[in-house]
Amino acid sequence: MSRNAESTAFRSALEVIRAVEPRVADAIGAELTDQRESLKLIASENYASPATLLAMGNWFSDKYAEGTVGRRFYAGCQNVDTVEALAAEHARELFGAAHAYVQPHSGIDANLVAFWAVLADRVESPALKKAQVRQVNDLTEADWFALRRELGNQRMLGMSLDAGGHLTHGFRPNISGKMFDQRSYGTDPETGLIDYDRVAEAAREFKPLILVGGYSAYPRKVNFRILREIADSVGATFMVDMAHFAGLVAGKVFTGDFDPVPHAHIVTTTTHKSLRGPRGGMVLCQPELADQVDRGCPMVLGGPLPHVMAAKAVALAEARRPDFADYAQRIVDNSQALAEGLLSRGAKLVTGGTDNHLVLIDVSGYGLTGRQAEQALLDSGIVTNRNSVPQDPNGAWYTSGIRIGTPALTTRGLGTAEMDQTAELIHTVLTQTTAGANADGTPSKAKYTLDPALADKVARQATDLLTPFPLYPAIDLA
Ligand code: PLP
Repeated sequence: MSRNAESTAFRSALEVIRAVEPRVADAIGAELTDQRESLKLIASENYASPATLLAMGNWFSDKYAEGTVGRRFYAGCQNVDTVEALAAEHARELFGAAHAYVQPHSGIDANLVAFWAVLADRVESPALKKAQVRQVNDLTEADWFALRRELGNQRMLGMSLDAGGHLTHGFRPNISGKMFDQRSYGTDPETGLIDYDRVAEAAREFKPLILVGGYSAYPRKVNFRILREIADSVGATFMVDMAHFAGLVAGKVFTGDFDPVPHAHIVTTTTHKSLRGPRGGMVLCQPELADQVDRGCPMVLGGPLPHVMAAKAVALAEARRPDFADYAQRIVDNSQALAEGLLSRGAKLVTGGTDNHLVLIDVSGYGLTGRQAEQALLDSGIVTNRNSVPQDPNGAWYTSGIRIGTPALTTRGLGTAEMDQTAELIHTVLTQTTAGANADGTPSKAKYTLDPALADKVARQATDLLTPFPLYPAIDLA
């Protein structure tokens, strides 16, 4: 394909948009400029390919298609069937999964589909048959009470938030925290690593209906074989949310015990993080859960987004190419180089390093909160996000950590040498930032001082670092 085709496609699209609402066209153009100029280290972001982006911007968006492939509640869905079937086929092949459901609009939605599928499946369990409940839809209020008694109030055991778990794994600000009684497993206070014996102990005590593996901010591999054994030992369903590291599973960096798909009953993911697809979610599962999973819409999802499913099919096809495995390995090489660069300059890292796509800096070592560090780095052209560290004394708002990840910069082509330079820039900013004080003299968790001239200098160095690695090099909007 000619490089010109991409430029022409995006330029023409903006021209069409500009004729209706020029401010939207301007904002889209400005977003490209901003993304090109910033050192993006947000662990959950990436840059989707032009083909993936273009697959989303079309008339598939106009179509209603409730139901599943070949069984729709709307007429005229033959082309939606084509793209949904393709996306599901690519997903099954890529991950070696028995079943793939590609309709979820986001990671949260994928988790909700999975939770409901597990609950609905358990309704058919022998223990509940005696309550004469056949379908989760038929449950009355009284049945729900019976169900709670039978299943121990739908208990969920997942990773604690400050150890790197996600809000959707049974925490209060998310509906999962209302659907389930939640208990968390944390990490070992010395090593920062998951202690599987402690997880097993918690499972024995708590007897969860669902054991959840997966994380948003844990910088290490997880042994899913062991977690499955723990789930089996207490009769729990084992679910893994691989939203963050799906790209590493797809690229065969995580195999064997570290690949969740052969071990879990059900796996959820987003498609836009390390997997580098469109914003969206997906559920993979064992055959026995497939029927319940396919009821995601209308049970918890609105109508499917055919334009996004088309983009998922494109991105998953890309992830099946041999060069994606190379990309996935480079993500981890870069992450380890970044960790090494920080450690050698004296930074404190949670778990002392990484074996995935992310690094968690404990910025208390610099005398800062996560909020101060995040803002000082942003002033210097480095985009990160603050994150709790295990047993965080500063809570989930101010935090004591900065989470950084390499999927996006790796897509641009930056390598291990640039990661060392990135570590130098981060370390310079954090050592030169000082925590501020409130008006009454007490220490502030938000205020900080950083010489603006230094911030400007680092921002220029960050731009220089990016210059040899243009983002979307074939796209010229001028
Ligand atoms: N699960 C995990 C582990 C995540 O990290 C995230 C997003 O940060 C989600 C689910 C939710 O994804 P989304 O923002 O697409 O709903």
